[in-house]
Amino acid sequence: MSRRILIVDDVATNRIVMKVRLSDAHYEVLQASDGQSAIEIARREKPDLILLDMTLRDMDGTEFCRRLKADQDTAAIPLIVVTAATGTRAKMAALQAGADEFLSKPLDEMILLARVRSLLRARETAEELALRHGTQRMLGFGETPETFLPPGEIALIGADPRISRRWRTELDPLISDRITPMTRAEALQPAASDQTPDLYVIDADLAPEGTGLRMLSELRARSETRYAAILVVVPEAARDTAAMALDLGANDLITAPVDPQELALRIKTQLKRKRQADSLRATVENGLRLAVTDPLTGLFNRRYALPHLARIAQRSAETDRSYGVMLLDIDRFKRVNDTYGHAAGDAVLTAVAQRLRDNLRPVDLIARIGGEEFMVALPDSDTDYVCQIAERLRHAIEERPVPLPNGHDAIKVTISIGAAISEGRPPAAETDDLESEVRVLMDHADRALYGAKASGRNTVEISQTAA
Ligand code: GH3
Ligand code: MG
Ligand code: MG
Repeated sequence: MSRRILIVDDVATNRIVMKVRLSDAHYEVLQASDGQSAIEIARREKPDLILLDMTLRDMDGTEFCRRLKADQDTAAIPLIVVTAATGTRAKMAALQAGADEFLSKPLDEMILLARVRSLLRARETAEELALRHGTQRMLGFGETPETFLPPGEIALIGADPRISRRWRTELDPLISDRITPMTRAEALQPAASDQTPDLYVIDADLAPEGTGLRMLSELRARSETRYAAILVVVPEAARDTAAMALDLGANDLITAPVDPQELALRIKTQLKRKRQADSLRATVENGLRLAVTDPLTGLFNRRYALPHLARIAQRSAETDRSYGVMLLDIDRFKRVNDTYGHAAGDAVLTAVAQRLRDNLRPVDLIARIGGEEFMVALPDSDTDYVCQIAERLRHAIEERPVPLPNGHDAIKVTISIGAAISEGRPPAAETDDLESEVRVLMDHADRALYGAKASGRNTVEISQTAA
């Protein structure tokens, strides 16, 4: 679906010229000739971006920005202000009113389109996160409370150390975040996670030529700095550099020589956005974790276990190595509940889970797939190994009594295990086959478990049936 851009300009020819340029770049264009109707269109149509001419008939451009940003429905729409004015005052007024960028006429098409791409990309990420967040809320996962925000960490990488120091001296009175001038080499050294900068200001003029942009790509490629905000300082006439910086993932640009007020404002905006994205990402990741784990034992749940088992099966088919699946069921568990109460039953479940964890490798999958039923998957394992591990687990549960809460004595607990191994079965090539292979294997393990129960419990039975 093509992205929609709203052009707000009171001069019809300006709108037409702009429309042609944007349509050529495959954007869909909406138009408004005054502020009031533009606000209405923005609310109704929710365009992906707005290009605003500062001088409107009915409304001052900054007033338009303010109204757009004050409305929940339109506040997140990226806004580029286009104006004939070139002065710092006009620019600062627009940025302060909430514009994301300020471009002077005559418009440089290359810069304009790079800006548009960069803002649309940022918006997509924000939307994607918000969407996942919404899904979790729907599933019943709560909000994380607003917490105290420590000052941001800002790294300044000027073309030479004097420039970085001057930026810091100028910025210090304007922002309350921690500012550290550093060299390119220092910035690319791995840092402790609490010291990784939230924001980098990079001089595009780093020598040798191209180093500034390369550094931008390097920061984006590293997992520790992937989500950092990056602001690139670009020389006035360096159009190619500016456009390229945006396409390589710069969040924002500022023209050299740097105006400290403008830099401070851009830093504040980018830090705020980065924090919103961080907190949304944390909620999403935390929510995902909650969605796939069992709260009592901390083990994975069934929802996670089955697709994961399919992945193990796939890797096994690719590497031509077998894997094993075990189903483990606590013996006579109902009696524990009936005799000592539900809390005692929970303590047994928790203790069993811990002993399983203590006796398996990190690559093994352990899941609680039912009330007192667990699944263990062992990648890269043959029949001998699976037998050995199953015996070890059975023994680990039996060997020490499990302490119970509420003053009860510790009790002896045992488990029965049924296992099946992919060894000797025809390899599954297609994804469809993988799913049925996994189902068949689980089925065999289940039957073996039934056999273990039938033959007196506290035993291991291995399925001998090939698929
Ligand atoms: P068997 O040896 O044949 O496996 O007998 P069993 O008693 O273990 O099996 P049964 O399926 O009859 O009973 C399982 C019991 O597990 C019934 C249910 O109340 C209990 N249970 C299921 N989930 C939980 C839980 O989260 N906490 C507690 N305390 N009990 C649970
Ligand atoms: Mg049981
Ligand atoms: Mg059971």
